[in-house]
Amino acid sequence: MRVTGTVQGVGFRPFVYRLAGDLDLTGYVLNDDRGVLLEVEGASAAVVSFLARLPADAPPLATVEQVFTEEVAPTGAPGFEIAASRRGGTPLALVSPDVATCAACLSEMADPGDRRYRYPFTNCTDCGPRFTIVRDVPYDRPLTTMAGFEMCALCRAEYENPDDRRFHAQPNACPECGPALRLVEPGGGAVGQGDPLAAAAEALRGGAVLAIKGLGGYHLACRAGHEVASAALRSRKHREDKPFALMAADLTAARELVELTGAEEALLLGSERPIVVARRHPDAPVAPSVAPGSPDLGVMLPYTPLHHLLLAEAGETLVMTSGNLSDEPIAYDDAEALKRLGSIADLLLVHDRPIHVRADDSVVRSLGDLRAAPLMLRRSRGYAPASIPLPIEASRAVLACGAELKSTFSLAQGPRAWVSHHIGDLKNYETLRSFEEGVAHFERLFAVSPEIVVHDLHPDYLSTRYALTREGVETMAVQHHHAHLAACLAEHGEEGPAVGAIYDGTGYGEDGSVWGGELLFGDVASYERAGSLAAVPMPGGERAVLEPWRMACSWLVAAGQDQPPMPAALAGAVSPERWEQVAALARSGFVSPSTSSMGRLFDAVSSLCGLRPTVTYEGQAAIELEAAAGAAREGTPYPLPLRDAEGGLELDARETVRAVARDVAQGASTALVSARFHAAVAVATAEACTLIAAARGTDVVVLSGGVFNNRLLVERTVALLEDRRLRVLLPELLPAGDGGISYGQAAAAAARLARTRSPT
Ligand code: ZN
Ligand code: ZN
Ligand code: FE
Repeated sequence: MRVTGTVQGVGFRPFVYRLAGDLDLTGYVLNDDRGVLLEVEGASAAVVSFLARLPADAPPLATVEQVFTEEVAPTGAPGFEIAASRRGGTPLALVSPDVATCAACLSEMADPGDRRYRYPFTNCTDCGPRFTIVRDVPYDRPLTTMAGFEMCALCRAEYENPDDRRFHAQPNACPECGPALRLVEPGGGAVGQGDPLAAAAEALRGGAVLAIKGLGGYHLACRAGHEVASAALRSRKHREDKPFALMAADLTAARELVELTGAEEALLLGSERPIVVARRHPDAPVAPSVAPGSPDLGVMLPYTPLHHLLLAEAGETLVMTSGNLSDEPIAYDDAEALKRLGSIADLLLVHDRPIHVRADDSVVRSLGDLRAAPLMLRRSRGYAPASIPLPIEASRAVLACGAELKSTFSLAQGPRAWVSHHIGDLKNYETLRSFEEGVAHFERLFAVSPEIVVHDLHPDYLSTRYALTREGVETMAVQHHHAHLAACLAEHGEEGPAVGAIYDGTGYGEDGSVWGGELLFGDVASYERAGSLAAVPMPGGERAVLEPWRMACSWLVAAGQDQPPMPAALAGAVSPERWEQVAALARSGFVSPSTSSMGRLFDAVSSLCGLRPTVTYEGQAAIELEAAAGAAREGTPYPLPLRDAEGGLELDARETVRAVARDVAQGASTALVSARFHAAVAVATAEACTLIAAARGTDVVVLSGGVFNNRLLVERTVALLEDRRLRVLLPELLPAGDGGISYGQAAAAAARLARTRSPT
């Protein structure tokens, strides 16, 4: 039998061994480049039973995709053995994501009589590092970053005993033979003689900032309730506003921080252990600088033994933010961490198990009762590199290079795509390098040699440039918003057609202008633009992204005020001269590319309310506008009429902006303005989608693009569409934002390949 799927590093061979033993079968099982290969020999009833139980009883972390069987002549060999792995040829074995520490390992660590008492690198076949330590396939210790640690006699005995929980657990280790912690100063010198963990916890309790080497990279940590420490971390990291993530010791501690539903608690406890963004508890014991102005907090639970021990010892929730300077990728290499984090951290808690792949924490946000699946804000550690099926098989090997800011890449071959971990902003040199290294690593790991390389239409995206420098391949362009649409259809196993309301900050349009409020009709392979938000100038181009007040000015000009008076809410933040200059740019269109971006409209309304004249990261103004709605969820929608225009339906937000400005001038609360604005966008979107769906004869609507990370908008829009009996697909496995683009590109390429091949 040949078994494919995620069957390595998940306890599959010992499971087969035990199953064969139960059924009195002889034979062997081994890992090879394509998964698991096995032979069983015995009574035919036993073989039949084996075949049935193989997929049904597989271990929890395994995914059996296919089982191919073939009859061979009996050998008469006695017993059942786990044979040595075979290498060479074409690896197809799937590498599993990293898995949070299991209950059995935790109880050993808590037992003073156990040899792994308080050992921070305890793991077993059911838990521990995987993707982040794998250098190559097959998944065996010599090809992981554990290669340098020789197992002691006791560990080796566990590793070789099929009845042991650690049978063939590749990262198996103990205090005798495995990795060890060290507490060092920023210069690299060791601190003290005692237990590094206890010393690190003591430093944290005293208000120090620590760099801590985790699973997929370094974190920067301090006490969440310690304002001096948290403020110091924020200023040293040059992180102005973005909330810090928190790590709570357990569910009880998490409940003090945020209000949790059952679904959110399940997410927190899941073996992927993402950061869960949830409503901040009114009495959350966190310092003001942890998440200034945010009604939500991002919380996770410990996912490595080291985290469990540290949280218990520190006795308080910790800030656990990615170990980087603002904009740089998270540090994962020890020498690099000392260099880059030495100026931020007072001390570094490090260890000697190398991290092969950098993987940030994943971030999710529950959709409450609307959907069982959460919004995936960032898909990385714990999820990557699990493959995602494609609705149409890729007949040739595909590399999809993604977008630029929240970039990921994907490889696709046959029925599946492997979507990379979160790579980040490619404009940073380090990130671009890790993108290139990541592509090479995935190509090796999954044995895919791309023949087709897909890129965004944007000629200046570094991912596009990378694609165009690949030699000996065919390249293919996929429009940004079509990739968003294709990604959502494909992850649901659908080919389309569907109507897509694709709202985001920016994406290169077919006409060279900046798109971002798009109404598309299409399938996985192709699309038409059925409408969009009315376009307005972006005064000063890209600068408007971090200065949302420019969009407020531009929208007021578009709404018919040639000389819009500066809203009182902006006084102090913007000088009247600059306001006047920007209004002139908006009128003339000089250095002001036209944009239909919905993200920019949210920015405009946010700054009309006086929330955010300027921001430090894209999307901040919109996030705060959503938050401002608070409990005022039922405001009457502002007018946002639909018009028939040259390019299809147009969402004419000029009247909306006028109404917002009027309400604000008359002293309406920001909560009410925000609620009315969200309602307007939801109503107009639902109406537009309904019209297009009826005209085109479909009943499927996709909502995607980063603007749909907005839970209030999603809830309202979905409710309206479902009232009209339309079926709404939301991104679930992948982000609505640009982290999902590469998978959409891969799905589109696979569908186009199938189309060109099929007879006409
Ligand atoms: Zn375990
Ligand atoms: Zn050992
Ligand atoms: Fe986008």
